[in-house]
Amino acid sequence: MADPRGFLKVPRKKAAERPAAERVHDWRELTVDPTAEALTAQASRCMDCGIPFCHRGCPLGNVIPEFNDLVYRGHLDEAAEVLLSTNNFPEFTGRVCPAPCEASCVLELEGAAVTIKDIERRIAQHVLASPLAPLPPLRESGKRVAVIGSGPAGLAAAQELRRAGHAVTVFERDDRVGGLLRYGIPDFKMEKGLIDRRVEQLQAEGVVFRTGVAGEDAPLQDFDATVLAVGARVARPLAVAGANLAGVHYAMDYLTEQNRRVAGDTLPPGIDAKGKRVVVIGGGDTGADCVGTAIRQGASEVLQWELMPKPPLHRAPENPWPEWPLVLRTGSSHDEGCERTWAIQTVALAPRADDASRVGSIEAVRVELAGGRIVPASGAPATFPCDLVLLAMGFTSAEPGALLEKLGLGLDARGRVAVNPETMATEVPGVFSAGDASRGASLVVWAIADGRKAAASVDAYLAARTRVRSVG
Ligand SMILES: Cc1cc2nc3c(=O)[nH]c(=O)nc-3n(C[C@H](O)[C@H](O)[C@H](O)COP(=O)(O)OP(=O)(O)OC[C@H]3O[C@@H](n4cnc5c(N)ncnc54)[C@H](O)[C@@H]3O)c2cc1C
Ligand code: SF4
Repeated sequence: MADPRGFLKVPRKKAAERPAAERVHDWRELTVDPTAEALTAQASRCMDCGIPFCHRGCPLGNVIPEFNDLVYRGHLDEAAEVLLSTNNFPEFTGRVCPAPCEASCVLELEGAAVTIKDIERRIAQHVLASPLAPLPPLRESGKRVAVIGSGPAGLAAAQELRRAGHAVTVFERDDRVGGLLRYGIPDFKMEKGLIDRRVEQLQAEGVVFRTGVAGEDAPLQDFDATVLAVGARVARPLAVAGANLAGVHYAMDYLTEQNRRVAGDTLPPGIDAKGKRVVVIGGGDTGADCVGTAIRQGASEVLQWELMPKPPLHRAPENPWPEWPLVLRTGSSHDEGCERTWAIQTVALAPRADDASRVGSIEAVRVELAGGRIVPASGAPATFPCDLVLLAMGFTSAEPGALLEKLGLGLDARGRVAVNPETMATEVPGVFSAGDASRGASLVVWAIADGRKAAASVDAYLAARTRVRSVG
């Protein structure tokens, strides 16, 4: 146990962020690493609970009390060993994870969970301070595995499978590796050099990356097993009049373009919020990332709208600890100059008076939750002038099409690749799926967890086939 009285002496203190007025002028990460002393003090707060609910709350099963104690004692090499035993990419989760572990920490009962995410990030910074040593397998299995998609699920599966001795090729449709980590999440939340460092490690371990190659064009017949980690990229559309006007864009088109610019790509003029009145439709993570991006581009006004009513500030009685708290979340982007409205529904978009092809205003009504359904509230529709509308209303499914047809797979009623949740195996022998593709749009931490689980199942599947053949 770190310090038996630590939680009584030291208040919870999260890592600071660079001041909003400064950070909106650049694309660099906004979190400021705490000093070593401050972090040690935070680690001292862990009570090493008999039943560590944090461990249960983490989708990866991170061994949290152990690494808290090691960080407190300054044993960062050992802490890294513990953390990397369950999480391939703590530098990703240490930045973008919403930290379900903290929500279920016993100290959260007092509203003062251990700052586990900051501690994880500290360990990851320690790991990154040296070159990432490759861990190639000790022996080759002679088996080949194709991983389709290079988001966190594909990368985790590829690393685990390669370390188990299989020859792994990752086929990625995009020009760069990383999935939504690369082209969805903005640099101010996670800088992309972190992905490049991991890719270099995977390559040094022997993973082959083939970017610009869609899974449907890959020679999958040459592989002994396939992991489908293609994400859930079909965005929920806005089904109202005027939705096809110029100036109305899906969030991913907008964010991808900006992430490419930050990466140094030279692009033709595209979706730019500079000087514009922006309405972001959708109150989640994707919407918040659009808000922060529009502010950095120099939008004159940014509104963010959410259909659901404003969540409570504190847990409702029917949402007790250690459940994930359904409470109001304020992200860093919201502190940068955005006006948020809840319980509002877009009913139409209208063109500008001087250009019938471009959006000029947006009409909306107030709504309320009644009997579990969203219904119109009293009051007339209101009209808001705007120049740019960004659609961030979530993702409905994995992409249907050529790849699934080639593999003989369909999507379930919720738009996911159906898998056995214990093994991530699809109904087609030798084909497994992981991450958003089979879970539905979710989180980086779940994608890594699924990728690891799929890799373990592929390994067992290949071993079983070898055994059967050698018996025969
Ligand atoms: C804007 C945004 C912000 C987010 N912010 C957060 C956050 O802060 N924290 C968090 O935990 N989660 C966040 N998420 C969710 C998180 O990014 C995803 O849950 C996670 O990336 C899913 O990982 P994945 O590997 O399953 O899929 P993806 O990351 O979507 O990767 C799938 C990959 O498959 C490739 N692909 C697709 N089809 C094919 C094909 N036919 N052939 C070859 N390749 C193909 C794609 O190009 C992509 O590279 C965010 C999502 C978005 C959109
Ligand atoms: S639940 Fe919180 S206090 Fe208890 S072991 Fe986990 S991090 Fe430490």
